[in-house]
Amino acid sequence: MIQIPLQPRPRIPEWLRLKLPTENTFARTRNLLDDLRLHTVCESAKCPNHWECWSKGTATFMIAGDRCTRACGFCAVSTAKPFALEADEPQRVAEATRRMNLKHVVITAVARDDLDDGGAEHFRQTIEAVRALNPGIVIEVLVPDFLEKDASLEAVLAAAPDIFNHNLETVRRLTPSVRSRAMYDRSLAVLRKVKEKRGERVFTKSGLMLGLGETEDELLTALHDLRESQCDILTLGQYLQPTLKHLPVVEFVHPDKFAEYKMRAEEMGFVHVASGPMVRSSYHADEFSSPLRPAGT
Ligand code: SF4
Repeated sequence: MIQIPLQPRPRIPEWLRLKLPTENTFARTRNLLDDLRLHTVCESAKCPNHWECWSKGTATFMIAGDRCTRACGFCAVSTAKPFALEADEPQRVAEATRRMNLKHVVITAVARDDLDDGGAEHFRQTIEAVRALNPGIVIEVLVPDFLEKDASLEAVLAAAPDIFNHNLETVRRLTPSVRSRAMYDRSLAVLRKVKEKRGERVFTKSGLMLGLGETEDELLTALHDLRESQCDILTLGQYLQPTLKHLPVVEFVHPDKFAEYKMRAEEMGFVHVASGPMVRSSYHADEFSSPLRPAGT
């Protein structure tokens, strides 16, 4: 893992303070996920929206286990030798999606560099199982870079996800110190290839965390690079340090600045931009997709 010197955490500003849930939907979500033995990135990555999203009955499934083969400096998912894939996991994700009555599901996975296809076939099976049990649902995948292997990208695309999300995470200069093994240009190439392969039949999406020390110019260059790679949808959120062993927050970006970046990104041609301190890849993901669903679903 990237070595990070321990430093005291800065005080969290008001706009990032959490409001705790009062409804029992949270407990129902918890029980359902336990019952079906599913992992979520909400828990594994210590997402700050965990309470809010689960209280609304939504979550982001994390398939292929909860042990990642990479060790990014921002991410709380455990790094360890993964277990074998579970053949019935696609069906369990489909069943959870049905029980939760989701209209838009987000499916992500740990990076599985131990597998030849990086877990792409498991993604394909999961997308197909979810669609078979939940017709009309909008399916968004948030995938690792699959080392840019064409066969892996084709395997995922064969199942026709509606939204293909791969995060750039940070600007070019900071990539080596923030991401483990991932490369800025490789991530752009993954997004570009998906558009070249499927064009208008799939929306591509990417996101960056702000507050890691990037400059405004570097951020705008990254957004420009994403548009050059024909990325359609953008998310920008505040980086928060999940534990003291992870990268420190360099800056808390003010909500007004997020609003300004949203405007700038829309001017560049992104078809949908979610930008705010609490925005994560999957936060309120269905706000973009409701016009995509067939009427009545
Ligand atoms: S923002 Fe995404 S990862 Fe975070 S709690 Fe909500 S659904 Fe889960």
